[in-house]
Amino acid sequence: MSKRDYYEVLGVSKSASADEIKKAYRKLAIKYHPDKNPGDKEAEEKFKEAAEAYEVLSDPDKKARYDQFGHAGMGGNGGFGGGGFGGGMSMEDIFEQFGDIFGGGAFGGFGGFGGGGSRTQQVRGSNLRVRIKVNLEEMLNGTTKTIKVKKMKAAAGATSKTCPTCHGTGAQIKVMNTMFGQMQTQTTCSTCQGLGKVADHIPAGANAQGLIKDEEEVSINIPAGAREGIQFSVRGKGNDAPFGGAAGDLIVVIEEEQDATIKREGDNLHQELYISFAEAALGTKKEVPTVGGKVKITIDAGTQSGKILRLSGKGLPSIDHYGKGDMFIHINVWTPQKLTPEQKSFFEKQLESGEMKAEPSGKEKSFFDKVRDLFS
Ligand SMILES: [Zn+2]
Repeated sequence: MSKRDYYEVLGVSKSASADEIKKAYRKLAIKYHPDKNPGDKEAEEKFKEAAEAYEVLSDPDKKARYDQFGHAGMGGNGGFGGGGFGGGMSMEDIFEQFGDIFGGGAFGGFGGFGGGGSRTQQVRGSNLRVRIKVNLEEMLNGTTKTIKVKKMKAAAGATSKTCPTCHGTGAQIKVMNTMFGQMQTQTTCSTCQGLGKVADHIPAGANAQGLIKDEEEVSINIPAGAREGIQFSVRGKGNDAPFGGAAGDLIVVIEEEQDATIKREGDNLHQELYISFAEAALGTKKEVPTVGGKVKITIDAGTQSGKILRLSGKGLPSIDHYGKGDMFIHINVWTPQKLTPEQKSFFEKQLESGEMKAEPSGKEKSFFDKVRDLFS
């Protein structure tokens, strides 16, 4: 088996410092992390290759030996030729040895490969991703949505048999004679890709892994307070795994449906309300829509355009803490654009007498004051 140079694998020079080597490995480990590349065999191999290179280059003794003898120096009397190293390092081994490099919980649990001890990999089905549109009312109360998910399912009648190449172990062991003695390397079985099983009978329409395109109805609970961009996963509702492994997850991404009148800002809601000149002068009662109902509000006589009314608790619930946001009603006084002759003469009289004029008392708040008040 021809192996890539460890420095080349990590993309560092032979004179790289321990810190540079660690950084280079961390970058690769994150890039090829199985959580990020579910079901991607090539990424998994790269992940393992990087771990192997790091295992050697981060250890001063092993690094010195490798610098002098190359890969040949890593077998035989080196001690880890027969230890399952050299491409056969399992995911569990990597996480056990280098788990700290991921920065403590940067990745949640690693659920892909079960069964400590066994080299056979329980390959999981790949994850699926769907976007779900949710309107304001559904975000207020939470909801359940049933959607149809297109996914790969295990085809009825698909059967598997033990892999003839690896006899079910998922690994191939190669023994090479080197100047240091016998060197044993273990690699993922190339026939079954580590599954330990291969297809026996594949029904018409199914792929080589016994999976067939299908559709499934999935009901999804959307919590109150959900918002644009939030995502969560529904376990086991992704693609099925070949030959009996666990199915992947369904990742649900929330998309917010825009409301025609009510705009959202965090947990708060905003809407514009237009009232006539007469309503502003005399005062009135108005019904305004809120999420999931209507609310009566009082407009005081003499209300100025630009006033903002706050309806406490009429916003959306917060998803991460208790309480609800508020609804803000932005008042706009509508100046009449078409006047009847009577109205025209009324306003003309007002103009002549000078009785109807703007009389700010100095206590009126500017737009910026209002905004500050609202959010202080
Ligand atoms: Zn095999």
